[in-house]
Amino acid sequence: MALKLYNTLTRQKEDFVPIKPPHVGMYTCGPTVYNYAHLGNLRAYVFEDLLKKTLIYNGYKVKHVMNITDVGHLTSDADSGEDKIEKTAKEKKQTPQQIADFYTRAFKKNLKDLNIAEPNIWCKATATIKDQIKLIQRLEKNGYTYVGQNGNVYFDTSKFKNYGELARQKIENLKSGARVDIDPNKKNPYDFVLWFSTGGSKFQGHLLKWMSPWGEGWPGWHIECSAMSMKYLGEHFDIHCGGVDHIPVHHTNEIAQSEGATGKKWVNYWLHNEFLLMDKEKMAKSAGEFITLETLIAKNFNPLAYRYLCLGAHYRSQLNFSWESLNGAQNALNNLYQTISSFKRPGQTSLEYQEKFRRAISDDLDSPKALAVVWDLVKSSLPAEIKLATLFDFDRVLSLDLKKIWQETKKIPAKIKELAKERETARANKNWAQADKLRDKIKKLGYSIDDTPTGSLIKKSR
Ligand SMILES: [Zn+2]
Repeated sequence: MALKLYNTLTRQKEDFVPIKPPHVGMYTCGPTVYNYAHLGNLRAYVFEDLLKKTLIYNGYKVKHVMNITDVGHLTSDADSGEDKIEKTAKEKKQTPQQIADFYTRAFKKNLKDLNIAEPNIWCKATATIKDQIKLIQRLEKNGYTYVGQNGNVYFDTSKFKNYGELARQKIENLKSGARVDIDPNKKNPYDFVLWFSTGGSKFQGHLLKWMSPWGEGWPGWHIECSAMSMKYLGEHFDIHCGGVDHIPVHHTNEIAQSEGATGKKWVNYWLHNEFLLMDKEKMAKSAGEFITLETLIAKNFNPLAYRYLCLGAHYRSQLNFSWESLNGAQNALNNLYQTISSFKRPGQTSLEYQEKFRRAISDDLDSPKALAVVWDLVKSSLPAEIKLATLFDFDRVLSLDLKKIWQETKKIPAKIKELAKERETARANKNWAQADKLRDKIKKLGYSIDDTPTGSLIKKSR
């Protein structure tokens, strides 16, 4: 069975056919580094990691590019408001560079904690200004641009025939939409800025600026992604992804710019993940309250419990976050760890279960079904060695640290195991004070203990 992916462009599940097999070019919109990523943001990166690892599991060689937006993303997500990074820099009395570096580091730590593989190429918007200027020049030559009274360079959406195709919106409908900037410089309401001019009075005092053929200024958010993806993946590549919120504006504008410049198709497959909801609302920074991965860690959750929670829902379904559901995910994961800790060594893999697993993830990344295959395997009557080897194989995609945890449990000192056993006895006798005392003792020796339905799970402390 071929790998099937749901393509937002066609609104259909399609057989995945790369341009130059076995190579796959994949671009994922990265973070705007003005604040911590919240769990809703991180859901997108977990989904993209699942996609990448599913491609690799199917034998493809993936070249993955991710950008870091360190200039040009305005607070409105469109063409009004302040530059997000400059705003934070002013509030914290630091330079934009310091802000960007700080939150880039925090973001990379999040990826590591979630076992998300880093892209092959990281690129920063501020490091590719020349490429962005060149792309705007191509658009200018092709007649897609105009300069407003304020000196900004705009993309003329009325000149691009298929504008709004990705969002399945006709330009007439877009015009009546609510999300229109009131900017008298625009010829059409959905035109957007390619280059911001420091001459525009609103933006005087912008700290990040470069010289361009249109005077001093800085690039718009959308042009960054078009320029960076084409720089590293070429003018026609396989996959572009992001959250569903990017469909109507950011990705719509990226397509208009890229195809306007090259005059040909840009990306074959567009994949988008749904929102993470909290109390039935989208988790968003603008809404104030948001939860970071550090918050989970501070509450003693394994960050991989969040990964497990994400895998438990299909990426195209909305996922409701609650502390109970995260707890459930952590318990399930601990059960899995506890189960494999009793397995002695890995043997041969089960071809039958591998095929079931591959079919599940290759059906538009059906991770809930893949997790069901995991539990079917665990409960099956197959020998432990086969189960262990097959689970390690699945973990190439799931990335739940199964091998690492299994190896660690093999190295737990006899003394710790003895204390854990004593604690089990205390618990069985309902001697909770003694059980807590033993847990503290174990903790002091550098190990943590989690109770699961199948027994206690000892882990080296993080
Ligand atoms: Zn982007």
